[in-house]
Amino acid sequence: MNVYDGRRVESMLEGMGYARTDDAADADVIVLNTCAVRAKATDKVFSELGRIRKKKKPGAIFGIMGCVAREAGADAFRKIPGLNFALGPQQYHKLSLVLENPDARSLCVDLSGLEKFDELPKMASSELIAYMPVQEGCDHCCAYCIVPYVRGPELSRPFDAVMDDVRRAADMGAIEICFLGQNVNEYDNKGRRLSDLIIETAKMGAVKRIRYTSSYPAEMKDELIALHAAEPKLLPFLNLPIQSGSPDVLRRMNRPYKVEDYYDIVARLRAARPGIQISSDFIVGFPGETDEDFERTCKVAKDIGYINSYTFKYSKRPHTSAAMMPDQVPEKIKSERLKILDDIVGENTRAFNESCIGKTLDCLLDGKNYRTPFMQQVVVGERGADYVRIKITDGNKCSLRGKICESI
Ligand code: SAH
Repeated sequence: MNVYDGRRVESMLEGMGYARTDDAADADVIVLNTCAVRAKATDKVFSELGRIRKKKKPGAIFGIMGCVAREAGADAFRKIPGLNFALGPQQYHKLSLVLENPDARSLCVDLSGLEKFDELPKMASSELIAYMPVQEGCDHCCAYCIVPYVRGPELSRPFDAVMDDVRRAADMGAIEICFLGQNVNEYDNKGRRLSDLIIETAKMGAVKRIRYTSSYPAEMKDELIALHAAEPKLLPFLNLPIQSGSPDVLRRMNRPYKVEDYYDIVARLRAARPGIQISSDFIVGFPGETDEDFERTCKVAKDIGYINSYTFKYSKRPHTSAAMMPDQVPEKIKSERLKILDDIVGENTRAFNESCIGKTLDCLLDGKNYRTPFMQQVVVGERGADYVRIKITDGNKCSLRGKICESI
């Protein structure tokens, strides 16, 4: 989501005559895009802003956009003297106004919904993988999560507006479309669902691969699961965050699905698309998590055989109900549990990567390396065409190596 937001703003600034630089000391305008989901991310923003303040040219305008702007509000200006602006996740389009009056110390953190999508100029180019946000915000109130507070209620963008953006991206060279939303499988615009977006997108010859992230487990409906059987362009890889394997922790997290239901969804996905691979997000050390609770999480990680996962130590966030819960888990225990879980997931990743050796996979260029249909990274000796068939020659816990056979 932040990669996409960053690109939109970059595109807007280019339209205003700015050019990109990688050197903060050389920049006239510095915009730090931010994430507030864990405390560490927020802390990093302020230490980085301190560094930028010292490094930047005198008179250069600097500010933040994104969730930390909304989380910190006016505090951002108190913490960082000289900061010119703070734009919340739904206010990026105001950047052009802010730049006209940089001394105003503009604080725009309102939740104005979908306005930014219409206000920002259209993208002037596309990467091979085009991120396509279909929603803004979130209506679930997971007890640990700051997202509903910083990004507001869940809103689905109009179907036609999304499809216009998809078409534009495909015309400008996108080969893969990745639909984005906090709960992307809940997308609903006047009855048109994520499956309709996928079906419509798959009709475009230029688009070869489609995926979506992130999904809310309880909302994996039959029609979407069936699409994994019917639509070959839909990649055989899905991020389906379970967060914990303990029914008790899930209940207190306000994630009202059963572990058995989750297993059932995975089984139905595997029946629909044999070979489909799953990843998850996990939080360890949620308040009150016992050793038994954690063992249940480890069991799920082994049972499902995730090919990778995002694993996090629980982080106390403002505006969340879990921050006030008793029995906060000590940092040391959180770190121990994280290591154990990472080892389990890492072992799965290594085993899956090794099982790919000798196979030939259709891979798409992503930066310097390629991505398989399961989103593994493949390192090749010499870069070839954008979309190629690669024979996998080697694999370890982190990535694959391979040889390009032919372009597709
Ligand atoms: N709906 C999005 C949530 C974005 S946050 C999604 O499902 O991806 C991404 C992940 O960060 C969440 O799935 C969760 O595992 C993790 N996370 C959110 N809040 C957290 C917190 N307070 N502490 C630790 N991890 C958290």
